Amino acid sequence: MVDRQQNVCAICELPLIYLEATFDHEAGRGMGGGHRNDLIEHEDGSWMNAALHARCNAEKASRRYKWQDGRYLPDERTKP
Ligand SMILES: [Zn+2]
Repeated sequence: MVDRQQNVCAICELPLIYLEATFDHEAGRGMGGGHRNDLIEHEDGSWMNAALHARCNAEKASRRYKWQDGRYLPDERTKP
């Protein structure tokens, strides 16, 4: 996942190394309760989830993000 993002964080776009990377789930934690939530692509091949710095993941908190035009952006449909 870090490789496909060309070794940059999906949120701040600064260099990201494996040791710093945390795995982010688009929908935040504790949603759905499904198994297999470690997938990195939707069934149609579009990207899901992302590698982030721990600090960026913490700032994101439980907000929902999704890939749009190659960038990982807040999902505007989800209001706080
Ligand atoms: Zn970052």
